[in-house]
Amino acid sequence: MYKEVNIIFHNQGLRSYIEVDLCSACPRRDNKGCCGYYSPVFYPSDFAYLLKNQPDLLEYIINLDDITVLDASITVNNTIEGNSYRCHFHSKERGCRLSQQQRESVCRHFVCPGINWEKEATLQHWKDFFIRLSDYEIMLNNSITDELKLRGLTLQDKNNRELFFQELLAIFKEKTCIPPEFFASCPSREEVKVICEIKYGEDWPL
Ligand code: SF4
Repeated sequence: MYKEVNIIFHNQGLRSYIEVDLCSACPRRDNKGCCGYYSPVFYPSDFAYLLKNQPDLLEYIINLDDITVLDASITVNNTIEGNSYRCHFHSKERGCRLSQQQRESVCRHFVCPGINWEKEATLQHWKDFFIRLSDYEIMLNNSITDELKLRGLTLQDKNNRELFFQELLAIFKEKTCIPPEFFASCPSREEVKVICEIKYGEDWPL
């Protein structure tokens, strides 16, 4: 069966995201779709956004029981459910409980390969945009992490987290004061339709 899927691309610099209307009727039919296989990982650029916009959510994440804390990242571990998993933030009724802006980059950019929007000739500017954005985020997060380490700061030191986040925000501001040129390569919003062949259950690729 073929179906028309609506996709909305949002260019918001480091908080860019992709919305897909198929998620509300996910062909996997397991009430968790792609989120059933993922544990979100928050990096310095996510911390900077949360510190400025939603510090209570960052506090909530840090105090969760099942997290993996590295020098400058926090993974919110999923739980085993049936033959897959469930993300901590996923609810059966409403899908992800985080707004798009609050999510980390995989959750903001991911569109299941069954839709395969990247093959569309008319969407190559967005494909290029999200590839460059991922590369830019990795480079930025690595350089912030390196700088924090040079200052002797790591998230694993529970007693120094206030200073860690204070310095992180200052470094983030310094490193992002000049936005990369590709941020201007796409409009702030573009809505498109693609036709894809729908398969159900485990036949639908994630
Ligand atoms: S944070 Fe939200 S989008 Fe990301 S895996 Fe969890 S439920 Fe899905």
